[in-house]
Amino acid sequence: VNRDNRGRWPIEDILARTDLAALLDELAEPATVSTRGRRWHCPVADHHDNHASVSMYADAHGHQRWRCWSGDDRHRGDAIDLLQATRGLNRGDAIEYLAGRAGIARDTPLPPAPPRPPRQPARPIPLDPAVPLYVEACERVLRTTAGRPVRDWLANRGFDEATIRANHLGADPGRRAMYRNKGLPYGTSLGATFPALDPLGTVRYVQTRYLQPEPGGPKYDNPAGDLGTNPRLAWTAAPSHNNQGLLLVCEGIPDALTAAQAGHRSVAVLGSHAPDRSVVNRLIVQAEQHDLTIVAMQDGDPAGRLWANRLGHLLAQRDHDLQVIEPPTPGTDLNDWARHDPDWSQWLPSREQRISPPTPEPTPTPPNPGLEID
Ligand SMILES: [Zn+2]
Repeated sequence: VNRDNRGRWPIEDILARTDLAALLDELAEPATVSTRGRRWHCPVADHHDNHASVSMYADAHGHQRWRCWSGDDRHRGDAIDLLQATRGLNRGDAIEYLAGRAGIARDTPLPPAPPRPPRQPARPIPLDPAVPLYVEACERVLRTTAGRPVRDWLANRGFDEATIRANHLGADPGRRAMYRNKGLPYGTSLGATFPALDPLGTVRYVQTRYLQPEPGGPKYDNPAGDLGTNPRLAWTAAPSHNNQGLLLVCEGIPDALTAAQAGHRSVAVLGSHAPDRSVVNRLIVQAEQHDLTIVAMQDGDPAGRLWANRLGHLLAQRDHDLQVIEPPTPGTDLNDWARHDPDWSQWLPSREQRISPPTPEPTPTPPNPGLEID
């Protein structure tokens, strides 16, 4: 019996009997269920969150936590933090509320704790052959008249023919024009297909980017979970390699393709979840195998900074440094930057800088090319 001297149960026992998803349903606006798991609109009062930025995860101790991925680091925590943020309760009152909600009373035995949902799917689901077949079909469509708007869109983003071919980019003409198996990207309208490759260049997954997303609809679409586990990392194929010795880690496939086109080894971290240990372990394997320095190409916004911080923190736990490069113009990403400054690579650390760092020097600030954000 671990009750304190006032007969109260430990917070741990109360949280173990709190269903955070149910509490979020009560206190935050649930979003439509997607293949990426459950999402909620951020319940913090001054955050008008159109994008349903809140998701749940289990921390290293298996405790359920919620987090808003919009970039505000304070929009996160456990069930107690959720009540404090949404109901204005102090910590003590929030704990009392949760105890009452879970049927826990002072000086009485604890009700049994519900079983915890598994932290991860028990084992990865192998890739369904329908996914690479979809990728191939879309590659063919890209070469046809129906694929012309996607070719123009890719060219406008600066991707050349060699990059497009090496990475098997394609055009999804939409479900009215192309039949697809259930669970493949839905094909609401015309989209560009960005396969996720494994380190050896085999197609492992795909993301479809709608050229004109429906209002309120997704910009990216993925295969359903039962067609294969999202690999979380999308490697690219560089048409030709430079010898800068860098592994550029990007927030999305288009940025990683920009890096690959410039001859860098590059990879995109997929999904709205933060990089986790599995992601970081796989980055380290590649970096060590090919003697590469890991550089994060973060977007120029608070969410990007949060993302790079998380990545740096996990790499530091494995005794790896992370260099971080941000585009010179706020609110832009690497693809924007490269389109306006073909020499963007000069701002990356050089091999000499990495071999003998005499004294830490401040990172040079790239010149502001004055580009427009689109
Ligand atoms: Zn928020």
